[in-house]
Amino acid sequence: EQRTRELAEAVKKVEDSQEEVIRALKKEKELNNMKSQFVTIASHEFRTPLATILSSASLIGRYGTTEEEEKRQKHVKRIKSAVTNLTEILNDFLSIGKLEEGRVHSIPVQVELEDFCKNLIDEIQGLCKEKQQIHLQYTGNTEVWLDKQLLRNILFNLLSNGIKYSDAGKEITLKINAEADHVDMAVHDEGIGIPEKDQPNVFDRFFRAHNAGATQGTGLGLNIVKDYVTLMGGNVTFSSETGKGTTFFVYLPNVMPAQVKMD
Ligand code: ADP
Repeated sequence: EQRTRELAEAVKKVEDSQEEVIRALKKEKELNNMKSQFVTIASHEFRTPLATILSSASLIGRYGTTEEEEKRQKHVKRIKSAVTNLTEILNDFLSIGKLEEGRVHSIPVQVELEDFCKNLIDEIQGLCKEKQQIHLQYTGNTEVWLDKQLLRNILFNLLSNGIKYSDAGKEITLKINAEADHVDMAVHDEGIGIPEKDQPNVFDRFFRAHNAGATQGTGLGLNIVKDYVTLMGGNVTFSSETGKGTTFFVYLPNVMPAQVKMD
């Protein structure tokens, strides 16, 4: 009987280690898949802006006369926008890498939230289409405790999506209510909306909805938003209707970190 038990244990051990090997192999395969996805996306997404930069730069080189100044300016603008686009993609890749390595932490500091949002909106306004505007509706406490860098990235991603996925003339609203223990934020647009069947996947890495069409994007932004919000101890949800618009809701705890609590 003793022998049978020993044998059973030995078999169990072998099975366990087999499972471990299988799990490790699966993880390795997932990582490899992810790496090749990154390479595919990078090659694909980099091609268009790089081609723009190349053609605009060579045209600029050919314009010599003062009459051609307007054309030159147009191409300088195209180059700037292509470089901005490339920088955003690279930043997303870097953020994902840092998150994967566990190198992103939420370090709350005191923030004058209304001013912070106004400054951010000023900065983003440049991305707006014609007659498109971001409105801020702010209520509640003025000072909150939040990680500035993470907050900035969350709002930048949600607001720039609002701009990107709505037409010229459509408004984007950032609504904030700051309470003593939490902050509620809502980013609303009147854009193309997210089709119902795509809604369960929008936070997945690389996912782009079927109606995203020709807009530039990597499908990484919302995945990063979700991770950042989670790191801050909050949560993010949305409601959306195609052709009507989308609202993203972010809930963040507003707490003074333990080490600076004074009582
Ligand atoms: P992307 O780089 O493609 O914008 P995101 O991760 O930010 O990636 O968003 C994932 C997808 O969700 C987008 O490709 C788009 O299809 C959809 N989406 C995100 N925000 C909006 C929005 N405000 N309105 C409509 N669709 C949106």
